[in-house]
Amino acid sequence: MKKILITGAAGFLGSHLCERFLKEKFYVLGMDNFITGSLENINFLKKQENFEFINHDVSQFIQIDGQLDYILHFASPASPIDYLKIPIQTLKVGSLGTHNLLGLAKSKNAVILVASTSEVYGDPLVHPQKETYFGNVNPIGPRGVYDEAKRFQEAITMAYHRFHGLDTKIVRIFNTYGPRMRLNDGRVLPAFIGQSLRGEDLTIFGNGSQTRSFCYVDDLIEGIYKLLFSDYNYPINIGNPNEISIKDFAQEIINLTGNSDQKIVLKELPENDPLKRKPDIELAKNILGWKPKIQRKEGLRLTYDYFCKLSDQELNKKEHNSFNSYNTY
Ligand code: NAD
Ligand code: UDP
Repeated sequence: MKKILITGAAGFLGSHLCERFLKEKFYVLGMDNFITGSLENINFLKKQENFEFINHDVSQFIQIDGQLDYILHFASPASPIDYLKIPIQTLKVGSLGTHNLLGLAKSKNAVILVASTSEVYGDPLVHPQKETYFGNVNPIGPRGVYDEAKRFQEAITMAYHRFHGLDTKIVRIFNTYGPRMRLNDGRVLPAFIGQSLRGEDLTIFGNGSQTRSFCYVDDLIEGIYKLLFSDYNYPINIGNPNEISIKDFAQEIINLTGNSDQKIVLKELPENDPLKRKPDIELAKNILGWKPKIQRKEGLRLTYDYFCKLSDQELNKKEHNSFNSYNTY
């Protein structure tokens, strides 16, 4: 039986990856320190005999005994609100955490795939974004803690590939959504749905003309699965190129929830918030034979149904409960 370590297992994407690899008959080691994740995301996995959970901060030395065949490094805060609140943890997990995991992969001769992001393109001056674009990132702006950690992650991963001959993969993930996102993580979809369920106004940052391109989680997981078993070692975009402005997205959420009298309020656009984002996925199509299948209408319905089932307590939580208990250095 092949053994895989998945970091960020208690988070949104990590929990879906654990589920997928258990279905594919892997022995799954899930690792997380719960800084932005939650126990509820993995309780159902803990009941499976081929799943083992390790509560550990990956920015500290990682010890795994015995065989290890694959590593998926997904631990990192991912929402702008989260990484603004825990900037140093964010820098550390993308740099020190990635270094630890590459070292572990080297010692076990394991294949490693790291989660990068469309944020490496910053506020892009090229549209749509191809993997060959070097990006437009402000290293000292508020988003720099995430963007630069991920750019360093890509650089050190390629160095381990070139210098040590390690079999590495880099996925550049574009905005992905679905069940098990944290309702209060600040990302636009949980923010809008949470506001709708609580009967609050929808908050659009700026005038809402900025665009994003949203990918349903099942499509992303399929792309990652294909990438892990490919022989491609350079960064590859995975996302859904169906682009929409945030203003139109807010209207789609209003149509979905049926709250037609819900108001929209405009708030200040956060500094360096990218004005446009859309993946060019030709490489993923050609190399992996992958393209997204789930349309936004279907994906939003599945996600909304998930959020509707959450308890009132979950719905009214304003902040992740563990932020204050972590050493932010
Ligand atoms: P998430 O916040 O739901 O999950 C991240 C998980 O990592 C959490 O469970 C958190 O507790 C854990 N974690 C953070 N720091 C850790 C540390 N030092 N040690 C151990 N665990 C730690 O976020 P997500 O959306 O699931 O994102 C997962 C990965 O995918 C991240 O690396 C993120 O940068 C990347 N990504 C996600 C998206 C997206 O749209 N969801 C887009 C681009 C990139
Ligand atoms: N956004 C918004 N209202 C919110 C939350 C986010 O208008 O309540 C905007 C945000 O400014 C950005 C877009 O929605 O332009 C996507 O934000 P998100 O935090 O989901 O992810 P990003 O793509 O910026 O990392």
